[in-house]
Amino acid sequence: HCRDLPLTRDAHALVPTQTYRQYRGLELIASENLTSLAVMEANGSIFTNKYSEGLPGARYYGGNEVVDELEVLCQKRALEAFHLEGSKWGVNVQPYSGSTANFAAFTALIQPHDRIMGLELAHGGHLTHGAFTPKRKISASSIYFEPLPYQVDPVTGLIDYEALEKNVKLFKPRILICGASAYPRDFDYKRLRALADINGSYLMMDMAHISGLVAAQVQNDPFEYCDIVCTTTHKTLRGPRAGLIFFRKDKEADLEKRINDAVFPACQGGPHNNTIAGVAVALKQASTPAFREYAAQVVKNTKTIGEELVKRDYKLQTDGSDNHLVLWDLRPLGLTGSKIEKICDLAHITLNKNSVPGDKSAATPGGVRIGSNALTSRSMFEPEMRIVADFLHRAVQIGLQAQSEAGSKLLKDFVARLEGDGEAAKALQQL
Ligand code: PLP
Repeated sequence: HCRDLPLTRDAHALVPTQTYRQYRGLELIASENLTSLAVMEANGSIFTNKYSEGLPGARYYGGNEVVDELEVLCQKRALEAFHLEGSKWGVNVQPYSGSTANFAAFTALIQPHDRIMGLELAHGGHLTHGAFTPKRKISASSIYFEPLPYQVDPVTGLIDYEALEKNVKLFKPRILICGASAYPRDFDYKRLRALADINGSYLMMDMAHISGLVAAQVQNDPFEYCDIVCTTTHKTLRGPRAGLIFFRKDKEADLEKRINDAVFPACQGGPHNNTIAGVAVALKQASTPAFREYAAQVVKNTKTIGEELVKRDYKLQTDGSDNHLVLWDLRPLGLTGSKIEKICDLAHITLNKNSVPGDKSAATPGGVRIGSNALTSRSMFEPEMRIVADFLHRAVQIGLQAQSEAGSKLLKDFVARLEGDGEAAKALQQL
């Protein structure tokens, strides 16, 4: 069966290469994590072979008795992981990712051209919360709905709830979205609920980044105040790549059916049962005391990185962090996030350039986003974070030297040597 295999062999060979890459370097991307072997085993399992459009007990394909059991188990574990057993909450575990979960939620809740409000992309929001630029609508959430973004305060970096209140009154959104991709502080759900109630809007939380921290109860609880809570499963929750939608069954009589219909058949086809198996494993792990310790350590580790950078007089958005990430504003140094991302890449430190509020260009933004969630999964603690912060400091110092003409030549030579000379690259890797 394997005669056509040069391509397959190549792809196969890339797996150990990527494994090496992930363990050789320091992973500081706030939206990534390292799943357990058990999660990967389930995710790579034979469940991938099965079609199961529909819901447990009501499928459009035969042979789903085992898949039904799996999906019901995954739903039960999702409710348990977020302390919702026996509550008014239900969950759909079929979304392929966070983006599709959000779009399915919009599809269930509102009509095309209805108004939504989410945190602006350049202020830490996600693309799917209605992102657009003056030149184009960059997300389906702005193509099919009418968004008005809200912002953070330019001085404190915190969500400007007062400006939001004024705009909520004017714009009257059908959905008020909270949650973010690059916001280092927690959300005031009670206040957001009050703002949503002004116009009878839905309050939707996208807890993709912080869902592991919410499960571990080291962040505020969005379920107390929101109507819909969406999440990815692969960031702080440490599962495979997928999405979940939680909905309040008592909000409206038909909300459960609208959410389920929005996921399938409106937005998706057959669920990825292998992924659901991986999610079920991750959710069980997220309900353990060990995971709660992990999440608390993520917060401590991020604080340590932040404190070490502030000690060296660097500027962090909101001057610190309550969660798993810091947003480092490099503009006072005259450096771009893209430059620091490149320098760190050369040193096998992976982080990402990120807009900071007030930035003009998303391609060369003024900040970098740093998360401690993956390193914490590798059993690193505060002492290691101090070393990591020192590496970051050194990367910035190299960036500053490279601003001078002599420094820039030095850096170019260095990169040319790395690219052209295998021996030099090897030697550098061994340093
Ligand atoms: N929501 C938020 C807040 C995110 O940060 C992300 C991804 O980073 C998503 C949704 C989208 O998730 P996915 O990449 O799984 O579609």
